[in-house]
Amino acid sequence: MPTPVGPIDSSKTPRYAGIASFARLPRLEEVASADVVVAGVPFDTGVSFRPGARFGPSHVREASRLLRPYHPALDVSPFEIAQVADAGDIAVNPFDIGAAIETIQEAALDLTADDTRLVTIGGDHTISLPLLRAAAGRHGPVALVHFDAHLDTWDTYFGAEYTHGTPFRRAVEEGIVDTEALSHVGTRGPLYGKRDLEDDRRFGFGILTAADVYHQGVVEVVERLRERIAGRPVYVSIDIDVLDPAHAPGTGTPEAGGITSRELLEILRGFRGLDIVGADIVEVAPAYDHADITGIAASHVAYDLVSLLALRHEERPDD
Ligand code: MN
Ligand code: MN
Repeated sequence: MPTPVGPIDSSKTPRYAGIASFARLPRLEEVASADVVVAGVPFDTGVSFRPGARFGPSHVREASRLLRPYHPALDVSPFEIAQVADAGDIAVNPFDIGAAIETIQEAALDLTADDTRLVTIGGDHTISLPLLRAAAGRHGPVALVHFDAHLDTWDTYFGAEYTHGTPFRRAVEEGIVDTEALSHVGTRGPLYGKRDLEDDRRFGFGILTAADVYHQGVVEVVERLRERIAGRPVYVSIDIDVLDPAHAPGTGTPEAGGITSRELLEILRGFRGLDIVGADIVEVAPAYDHADITGIAASHVAYDLVSLLALRHEERPDD
């Protein structure tokens, strides 16, 4: 492997200078190939409440200027053991959800050629459906860990099938996820009725609520998730509203009683060694953010995901 091109050295160029790529990493076109790419999807035409997640990718990139190249909790320098690059934003149609979904799926398939792993920054949660389609196209039906205040397995809104509240119901219907290995984490807040939970259970989801994370603790939650994943290729989807509004005010449908950013990061660190085939962080809406709280949380979550994927790149058996 050629020596990876790392981020801009912040001891030589101030970290607030220049155009923001994720973690000040090189852009994809500046490197020969990449093991892990970060891409933005500035799309929020699927939201049911507050819009603005189309500005998520640039906000998270700005907040990511402060990330440093060594991850002490995982004991890894992710940008040294793998080539990580910023693939820029996928240019999606803001007026036609169907066209946007197709564009995202095609772009994700392009970006993941040659076993490159993709971390996507949204965008609203609609984008997870085409990202899961692309992941399943490469790996078959995948296990899913879905961090969210909400189930996102509703059927339709105003007759619309493709929205930010429906991607995982569509994914089950399309057979692109493994229904033996589906988990929600951080669920809370009022629902339309008990039926929401019954439907969700019928699709095969197991739920670890925000209260479960509090009562059981991170270690047990990780254990239960890993048991359910059981070595399958797994996709990780993180709606930033899984965090309490105190940790992520800048989002479209906030709910009280969420988990902390510390709990989320510690759960993710418990995923070391899993075959993570892709991940997204969605629903960052900077217009409602204060003091970059949400952007900082999302950039750190992305850094942890990139670190796990870089480790996986290093630790995978030769094939
Ligand atoms: Mn949500
Ligand atoms: Mn969601």
